Amino acid sequence: MQMLQGLHHITAVASQPQATIDFYHRVLGQRLVKKTVNFDDPGTYHFYFGDEVGTPGTILTFFPWPHMRRGVPGNGETTAVAYAIAPASLEYWRDRLAAYGAAPGEVQTRFGTAVMPFRDPDGLMVELVVDEKLPAIQHWGSGPIPADHALRGFHSVTLWLDAMGPTAGVLTEPMGYTLVGQEGSRYRYQDASRGLGGIVDIVHRPGQRRGSFGAGSVHHIAFRAADDAAQLAYGQRLQQAGLQVTPVQDRQYFHSIYFREPGGVLFEIATNPPGFTLDEPVAELGDHLKLPPWLEPRRPEIERRLPPVTTVPQESAAR
Ligand code: ZN
Repeated sequence: MQMLQGLHHITAVASQPQATIDFYHRVLGQRLVKKTVNFDDPGTYHFYFGDEVGTPGTILTFFPWPHMRRGVPGNGETTAVAYAIAPASLEYWRDRLAAYGAAPGEVQTRFGTAVMPFRDPDGLMVELVVDEKLPAIQHWGSGPIPADHALRGFHSVTLWLDAMGPTAGVLTEPMGYTLVGQEGSRYRYQDASRGLGGIVDIVHRPGQRRGSFGAGSVHHIAFRAADDAAQLAYGQRLQQAGLQVTPVQDRQYFHSIYFREPGGVLFEIATNPPGFTLDEPVAELGDHLKLPPWLEPRRPEIERRLPPVTTVPQESAAR
């Protein structure tokens, strides 16, 4: 059976729609590849940021809930999202983040590579990890970052957990990950493909407080399945391992099943197809508010409730 192929997307919570676009699209150069709504809560946007086409493994998505109070990181959560960068890009990013008011913290060394941490406007911990073997992505050519320095998709996520064993068991047994390293309380697991977004780090924090969900929190992380048949097989494998897996949900750009791993983190398995060009061409990705067919009849009401947002830089819009 084909193993899970690393991260598909990561979904987090923000408080301000425009500030989220400004930071990820303009500062980090992650193209807004889809502007839609939360299908379970259509009064809320759902933004997808990624490379030029939204390649699985590059996609960070947000539910911006205005007035959401800030979350507090803790056990039972995904607490950091890491992107890969080229070794020569550390200084570029230190300067760029500082110029936009997101000055990074001290560069750390983790498993022999440099890690530069910073926070997004809602306090979500984002890390840039130097990677010698950068996976191929589709560079967003008309974005603000030159190809040499662009973020190269997900490197990893970090989970904070009270207990190691049960979660490690799910990662290694039904999901096919392997323990590849340990540094202090951090345990590194890697998928069989060793490709884009293939690493999950667990930080073992016995007895420490659980997270409090809010703006700046990760809602769930999704792993890739090649297609519907692979997803079905994974779902069965997870169920045989005793996990409660949801029925397949149609997320328009992929199909999803969800389960909560024993440490409390919400996991999803999402299919690579059909992808973000399902309802708009590559050149127009993110330009229009897209709704799934079942919400299209409610478009006028939905558009009235959503605050206006723009991908045009504010200073040039004002000129
Ligand atoms: Zn998801």
